[in-house]
Amino acid sequence: MEFFTVKSAYWLGMRGRIGQQGDLWRQIWTLNAPPKLCHFAWRACNNTLAVRAYLWRRHIIDDASCAVCGAAIEDVVHALLECNTIQEVWNGFKYMDIINNAIGNDGQRNLDTILQLFDAQEKCDFLVRAWATWIVRNSHYFEESPALPLQVVVGFLRLVDDYRTYA
Ligand SMILES: [Zn+2]
Repeated sequence: MEFFTVKSAYWLGMRGRIGQQGDLWRQIWTLNAPPKLCHFAWRACNNTLAVRAYLWRRHIIDDASCAVCGAAIEDVVHALLECNTIQEVWNGFKYMDIINNAIGNDGQRNLDTILQLFDAQEKCDFLVRAWATWIVRNSHYFEESPALPLQVVVGFLRLVDDYRTYA
């Protein structure tokens, strides 16, 4: 009987989890945004972006510290919101107080939690900047002259506009 109970609880837990995941999937794919942005958002919210904390957890590297600024742990929230190299992307973004508050209160540091604070249009605005951050960040790693943050943001905003107009 006890086994049955534990198993049922596990099953219900799993169903709950799948339900939440399905909901997140639906939220992201109904944003009417380019598929590339949706894929990025999905990976960012599920903590499967190739940040160093993720690679470290999978034993691919043995040091999770931020390769760009040297902070102790390069997780998704650090890479996309906190790292000093990408602050220009977020300068003037009107929801920064809400976001900082959420990061402060959320021990899990999950992008999904932040996403839930916004309506659909705000989600899209937020994700465009997060995506720009990721591109700028990677350019610091892989390119001789890093991408200009504001240029990337403007380019992505235009991409979303074009997608909505022509897709
Ligand atoms: Zn950093």
